[in-house]
Amino acid sequence: MQYYSLNKQAPNVSFREATVLGQAPDKGLYFPERIPTLDKSLIRDIKSYKKEELAFKVMLPYVGGTIADEVLYKIVSETIDFDFPLVKINDQIASLELFHGPTLAFKDVGARFMSRCLGYFSQNQSNKVTVLVATSGDTGGAVANGFLGVEGVEVVILYPSGKVSPVQELQLTTCGQNITALEVAGTFDDCQAMVKSAFMDADLLAKMQLTSANSINVARWLPQQLYYFFAYQQWDEEAPPVIAVPSGNFGNICSGLLAYVSGLPVQHFIAACNENDAVPEYLRTGKYAAKQAVATISNAMDVGSPSNFVRILELFENQYETIKALVSGYTVSDAITRQVMAEVFKKDNYILDPHGAVAYYALNDYLHQHSDQKGFILETAHPVKFPDTVEEMIEQKLPVPASAQALFGKEKHSILLNAGFDALKEYLMSR
Ligand SMILES: *Cc1c(COP(=O)(O)O)cnc(C)c1O
Repeated sequence: MQYYSLNKQAPNVSFREATVLGQAPDKGLYFPERIPTLDKSLIRDIKSYKKEELAFKVMLPYVGGTIADEVLYKIVSETIDFDFPLVKINDQIASLELFHGPTLAFKDVGARFMSRCLGYFSQNQSNKVTVLVATSGDTGGAVANGFLGVEGVEVVILYPSGKVSPVQELQLTTCGQNITALEVAGTFDDCQAMVKSAFMDADLLAKMQLTSANSINVARWLPQQLYYFFAYQQWDEEAPPVIAVPSGNFGNICSGLLAYVSGLPVQHFIAACNENDAVPEYLRTGKYAAKQAVATISNAMDVGSPSNFVRILELFENQYETIKALVSGYTVSDAITRQVMAEVFKKDNYILDPHGAVAYYALNDYLHQHSDQKGFILETAHPVKFPDTVEEMIEQKLPVPASAQALFGKEKHSILLNAGFDALKEYLMSR
């Protein structure tokens, strides 16, 4: 299996090179040259597979021989070493809880898979790889946790000072070892712009092998399709599910669409967005325009220009009608998100985080118009990561899980940095 750049101005590469490079030299995203078709028996007998076996079978064609089978089996087993329960909220709607990993959000799977692949590819290499990543909250913790102690890999995380929640900040500033947190006096957009400049700076590229750890990287993007398979293992209805995905950069839903194209049964997809709705707008009008990001209470989805949208277009060969028939877009305001959190807790005794609440609203509305169908949301973060909003809406304190509790005793270590590329360059050159 080879990967090509969506900008079509760079040579094809293996999974290994795509992972190490992150992005193609022509700034394009890498895309698999063909989408594997699953054995019919795999779907028919899906409940009889252990989740490690299933994960191995799904990922095997994508790594294209660059990782030995027994190593890949070990990597996927470690990656998914926690639960992915499909929990019933009410008669029509269930919640696929993706927050049972070490940093309490769904990004753990991608970060754990990528870190292990990169660690494997860095063995016996004289050059260290430096992973440079900007975070608005959840990515930082998942990447720090996933890469902690991985030999041959240094991780530098930029986060906006004062704009991440306490749990999120502790997750990315208390690791030590090969993980460095840069606390930037600025916004998430500043952090992201600094990282982008670094990838284009000749001096830095001459000094170090830089790669990214956001969903642009195929090793972070591709394993996310496993959620959809694990959900289908637990799906007991005759008809396939309608699946609502809270979306920001569109990596998660795009991996679900990949699973669907490979043969996983899905009735319909819902791209659930907050006010940052460039893709729902496209689904409504057929016209795509990036927007300026606005801040919302579901902040992991505050993305004005979703990087994986081009992968969705590629997957369906730019056929707007095909995409529109399969995917519905929703724009959900903060006011409605809050209201849904309160109502679902009152009616069904289920606590949604703001991202899950956006998806719930969209799915519930869709199922009102398709009352013979059923579905589930992807609950992408534990409510405790957003305690202020959630506790206000459910009018009670949230129990704090042990992994979050343990963080509060630890000491924060961060390096303060001014916003702007100069400060980042000076820091990286002096490392
Ligand atoms: C990152 C994130 C999202 C958005 O996922 P994309 O793959 O970027 O669309 C949604 N919810 C939470 C909690 C996240 O951390």
